[in-house]
Amino acid sequence: MTAQMEAQLVQLQACMYQYSRAIYRSIKDLIDPYAEASVQLESRRAVLEQCEQTMERLARDPLYFSKPDRALFQDIRRYFPITAQAEVAWAVKEGVAAAVAFIEEQIEAGALDGGVARCRATTRKGKPCQRTPLPERDYCPSHQHLERSKVAA
Ligand SMILES: [Zn+2]
Repeated sequence: MTAQMEAQLVQLQACMYQYSRAIYRSIKDLIDPYAEASVQLESRRAVLEQCEQTMERLARDPLYFSKPDRALFQDIRRYFPITAQAEVAWAVKEGVAAAVAFIEEQIEAGALDGGVARCRATTRKGKPCQRTPLPERDYCPSHQHLERSKVAA
């Protein structure tokens, strides 16, 4: 890894930390208000930790982490009362979408090409394609039509 790439990764992680804090802030007050104070504190810690883990994983593995919002919601929903679930799901979806959009921008800007390049397509079975993309492209030979449709859009 070059020093420049390392600096970019540090900066990215700092940004991801901001996103995880934002998600946490948007939902922390929805944590079961009738639980004991100590339980509430534990729940808050657990929720914050899950937000951070999700963002860390997203920063490390942005192309292979499918449905990160759903994964995070599944991990934290038990800390919220049933009446707050829809609101939590929405906040998580919005917060994660903002982080994903940010990461995608970084990838397009070429800031994140430190890893092994892989085709960005998803196979029919819903798994990420593991093939090597064409030079200077995001897709492998069998998925290159996806790139063209993206450019056309
Ligand atoms: Zn492919």
